[in-house]
Amino acid sequence: MQFPQPYSGVPMTTHPVIVKSNSAQAKTYPSRYVAGAETLDRAELRVIALGTGYPARRAQGCAGFLVEVGNGDAFIFDAGAGTNAAFNTLRVPYWKPKFFITHYHLDHIGDLPAYYDFGQSNGRLEPMRVFGPDGLTEDENIESVVAALKQFARWHDHSKLGNLDPRGFDIEPHRFTADAPQLIYNEGGVTITSFPVPHGIYGAVGYRLDYAGLSIVYAGDCEPSTLTVEQAQDVDLLIHEMFNPPQTYVDFMGWTELQAKIVAWTKHTSPEAAAKVFAATKPGLAMGYHAIVAPGTPQSLLDGVRTGYDGPFALAQDYTVVNITPEQIVTRATDIVPWDFIVTDAEYVQRMGGVRTDPSLMTGLPDWLENTTIPVTEIEAFKQQLADMGGR
Ligand SMILES: [Zn+2]
Ligand SMILES: [Zn+2]
Repeated sequence: MQFPQPYSGVPMTTHPVIVKSNSAQAKTYPSRYVAGAETLDRAELRVIALGTGYPARRAQGCAGFLVEVGNGDAFIFDAGAGTNAAFNTLRVPYWKPKFFITHYHLDHIGDLPAYYDFGQSNGRLEPMRVFGPDGLTEDENIESVVAALKQFARWHDHSKLGNLDPRGFDIEPHRFTADAPQLIYNEGGVTITSFPVPHGIYGAVGYRLDYAGLSIVYAGDCEPSTLTVEQAQDVDLLIHEMFNPPQTYVDFMGWTELQAKIVAWTKHTSPEAAAKVFAATKPGLAMGYHAIVAPGTPQSLLDGVRTGYDGPFALAQDYTVVNITPEQIVTRATDIVPWDFIVTDAEYVQRMGGVRTDPSLMTGLPDWLENTTIPVTEIEAFKQQLADMGGR
C-alpha cells in the first residue's frame, strides 16, 4: 500500500476508521478536525500530535502529544521545541494540561519554558504540574530540571512580578523512580502508569493512560522492548518512536553512516524493529513518531513496518488527531488558524476568584533608565496611577 503524501491534508494511515465494535452509538466525525470545534463524549479520548520529528522544523516540532479526555482533563506527553506553538493553536486553555516527561533529552523538554511563560500570561492561575522520572544521578530528575528551569526564568519572573497574577509563577515537580512500572497519577477516572524503557542510559520511561476502558501507550524514545509490549497489551493506541532508515540521515543531513546507524539503530527503533513490537502487542492502532516526515520519506517507514506487522498503522505528522471511543478509532488531520489567539477560560478564572494584579509587587526600572523613556501624555497619567497603587 502507498501512504498519501505528507502535508496533503490526508493523514498517513492505513486505516482512517477502525471499528472496535459495531454499534448504533458510533459517532460520525467531520472529515477534518477543526481545532476547538468538537466536544468530546464522556467516554472518549482525543490525541493530537503537537510535535513528531527531530530536529524541529516549521512542519514538525520535536516530540509532544496532547491528550484530551472526556472528563475535561488534558495532558501533554513531552514538551519538545515547537510543540508549544502547535498547542497555542488548538484552543485548549493553559490551566488544563498536566505535563508528563518521558526523559530529559532536550528535544523532549525544550519548550517547557514556553509553556510556563505563556501560561503565566494566559490564565493559568496555579502552578504548572510536571511529572518525570529519576535519572542516573541525584541531579538528573524532574526536581532538578524544574529547579534549573526556575533559575532560568529568574529574571523573567522578577521583571513580570506585579504585572501578572503571582499564582502562575510556579512549577510543581512530581518525581518517581524509573526502575519498575508504577501508578503515578490517579484523578477523575484517569490513571497514568509509567514504565521503564531502554534509551541510552537509565531514566527513560513510557506512559500508559487508561480512562473509561480506553487506553493509550506513549512509549517515548526507546529501543524495542518487552516492557513496552507488556504494558501495551490490549491498548487502543500505541505511539512508538520510529527513526528513518540510516541512509535518510546520510542523504539529507550529512551524517556519517556510522553516526546514522548508532542513532537510528542502537538508541532508537527502526521501522523493522517497531514492527516486532506492534506484532507482539496488536494495538488497535500502531502509530510511529520521531521520523523526519518530508515528501518521499514516509513510504520507506511503512515498507519497513510491513516487513513484520500487517495491522493498522499510522505515521504521525504534526496535527494528526486520533479520536478513541468504545466503538472506534478515527484518525484525521486538524484544521488550525495559524494566527489564531490563545484561548482563555473565563469560567475557570472566575472560579479562581478572578485575575489578581498587585502593582506593589513591581520592581521597576532604576530612575536613570526610567528617565530616558519618552513621555506620552496618556501613558504618563497611567504610570502615575500605577505609582499611587505602589507600582513603578
Ligand atoms: Zn527524542
Ligand atoms: Zn531521547
